Amino acid sequence: MVKKSSKSSSVKKTSITESSKEPAPPPPPMPKSKLTKDELKQFRNALLALRDQLTKQVGSMESEALTKGDSDVSVDHMADHGSETFDQDFTLGLIENEERTIQEIDEALDRIEEGHYGVCERCHESPAKANKIAPHIPKARLEAIPWTRFCVDHAREAERDREVEEAQEDEE
Ligand SMILES: [Zn+2]
Repeated sequence: MVKKSSKSSSVKKTSITESSKEPAPPPPPMPKSKLTKDELKQFRNALLALRDQLTKQVGSMESEALTKGDSDVSVDHMADHGSETFDQDFTLGLIENEERTIQEIDEALDRIEEGHYGVCERCHESPAKANKIAPHIPKARLEAIPWTRFCVDHAREAERDREVEEAQEDEE
C-alpha cells in the first residue's frame, strides 16, 4: 500500500523517498463512477466550457503581463513602478493558478472517459476508510468544483500535504 502521508503509521524510517525502494503494489481497482451517462455528459460539457474560458483568460492575461513587461521600467525606477511590478507578479500568480486548474480539468475529462469520474482518490486508496464512507464525491461538490479529485476532507488533507511539500522544496 502506498502511503504518501503516514502520520499515524508505524513507519520509522525518516527517508521521504521510501516509495522508490520497492515497486509499489498495484492500487485497488478504482471504483466506477456512480453518475449516469446524462450526468457525466453534463459535467463533461461544464468542464469543457470552463476549460475554454480559462484558456482564453490565461491567454489575455499573458499578453497583458508581457505588454507590461515590455514597458521601459528599469530596475533603478522600480520604486516608482512598484505597483506595476506587483500587478505583474499578481497576474503571473493568477496565470499559474489557472494553468493548474486547466490541467486538473484535463485530468477530470480523462476520468470521465475512463468511467471513474467523481471518485475520491484518497478514500479509494484507504480501503478501511472506503468501507465506512463511500469513495464517491457528493454531486453537489462536483457541481461546485467539477475538476475536484477529492472529497471535502481529503481536499483539505491534500492541500496541507501540498503546502508541506512546497515548504520542503523551499528549504532545499
Ligand atoms: Zn476522500
